[in-house]
Amino acid sequence: MARLIFITGGVVSSLGKGLASAALGALLQARGYKVRLRKLDPYLNVDPGTMSPFQHGEVYVTDDGAETDLDLGHYERFTGVSALKSDNVTSGRIYQRVIEKERRGGYLGRTVQVIPHVTDMIKEFVMDGTDDLDFLLVEIGGTVGDIEGLPFFEAIRQLGNELGRDRAAFLHLTLVPYIEAAGELKTKPTQHSVKELRAIGIQPDILLCRASHPIPDDERRKIGLFCNVSAENVIPALDLDTIYRVPMAYHEAGLDTQLLKHFHIGNAPEPDLSRWQQVVERVKNPEGEVRIAVVGKYMQVKDSYKSLSEALTHGGIANNVKVHMDWIDSEIFERDDAASFLENVHGILVPGGFGERGTEGKIEAVKFARERKVPFFGICYGLHMAVIEAARDLAGLDGAGTTEIGKPKYPVIGLMTEWVKGNQVEKRVADGDMGGTMRLGAYDSVLTPGSRVAEVYGTTNISERHRHRYEVNTEYTPLLEKQGFKVSGWSPDKRLPEIMEIPEHPWFIGVQFHPELKSRPLEPHPLFSSFIAAAVQQSRLV
Ligand code: GLN
Repeated sequence: MARLIFITGGVVSSLGKGLASAALGALLQARGYKVRLRKLDPYLNVDPGTMSPFQHGEVYVTDDGAETDLDLGHYERFTGVSALKSDNVTSGRIYQRVIEKERRGGYLGRTVQVIPHVTDMIKEFVMDGTDDLDFLLVEIGGTVGDIEGLPFFEAIRQLGNELGRDRAAFLHLTLVPYIEAAGELKTKPTQHSVKELRAIGIQPDILLCRASHPIPDDERRKIGLFCNVSAENVIPALDLDTIYRVPMAYHEAGLDTQLLKHFHIGNAPEPDLSRWQQVVERVKNPEGEVRIAVVGKYMQVKDSYKSLSEALTHGGIANNVKVHMDWIDSEIFERDDAASFLENVHGILVPGGFGERGTEGKIEAVKFARERKVPFFGICYGLHMAVIEAARDLAGLDGAGTTEIGKPKYPVIGLMTEWVKGNQVEKRVADGDMGGTMRLGAYDSVLTPGSRVAEVYGTTNISERHRHRYEVNTEYTPLLEKQGFKVSGWSPDKRLPEIMEIPEHPWFIGVQFHPELKSRPLEPHPLFSSFIAAAVQQSRLV
């Protein structure tokens, strides 16, 4: 039966709780344990699918088609375990289930209350399908003290009691700030945060303390004393030069050892962290650098393209180069000449996106890449932009566009209302619910033998994750193919183009799916490895 580790956060948000959880997962996995990570999000949206990336960062899509929190991306990247719909839940979804059950008469006339009905629903969610795991790590979003988070904290408190100390551990991530003027680390915020946690009945077993300076032993003892935790269980988590060092740093600080002690596991094998060591060495000692321009819309918020920036870095790891990313707001190209921004880059990537703003700028970026023979990678909306650019400039279809924006004269990108998945026909309605009309999750594609993508993947059958409403309109693909822009990947029913490429170009590939979601530091995605390899070639020319 699984042991549960509950991970809460205090003092401030943005301490990297998701990353800490993911790294701990990787560390336990490196000791040979079977782990899974789950995230409980206190906000009221049913899922983050309807939230703007400006609000909440990237929406991470799982194989089984759930739109989830971006922390699930960290979990996957660090553990290699594919996340599922059942690994992320929000207050909104929990309440929705409780209310649905109430409407069905499922509570048999009782008054429906936060305790026990909401907390029971949370506990059911947490424990579902965990029997074959060694460890389930459960991260609670937000910080202790948030009103929204209370039912989740109450539910994990109850679970801690029910499972007992041998099967549950509470890990609390806090901040130990360094006050420059005093030249001192301050432990008070941590004390307050733990006080808050204890007030709602949770005594943390381990404190993971983020700090910019080493925490001296007597400060650890002091924190331990005030927080009712043994000094060895006050683990410093110092700022690091690269996130890939986190599993090793935690191990050195004793996190996994103390956790195993807590669970009375005495015979655990030492973790094998050699692969993480290799990744760190590659990241720290690259043999060169390439510049990639990412031309998109949500540039101010670093987390909007989290998986994308990670995947580009992984492509760098595969090629032993550092990837420098220029994040460019595409609207700039609607005013200024693209050349002045793109002349010195070695690759151009147009990522996924929605809506009208900035699209003409993205089309300019595609045009620059195509004409100047700079490696180009279009992802989802990026493919749509490439198709529109080619339709206008190569096929002479002035007024080509996507039906996502108004009513273009030539709808080269449009809404497909029906397609086949496996043996089933799936349908989409134009005016359906915002949350439910997308092609979401893993879909197979069949690649054209001899195409560049078939060579890149080393196979002709692939599965990748999708999140979009619109598709390349096959009425126009024969015309585009005549101009040298070929469909090189199709859905198995041959109705939906999945990949397009220009064989005559050094590297020009557009994909309908999101390959960045499946890239991992220990297993860089082939498309990103190949794109960065092409950028390395380009850097030798520029
Ligand atoms: N807006 C486009 C669509 O819905 C592309 C979505 C995306 O890039 N993920 O089809």
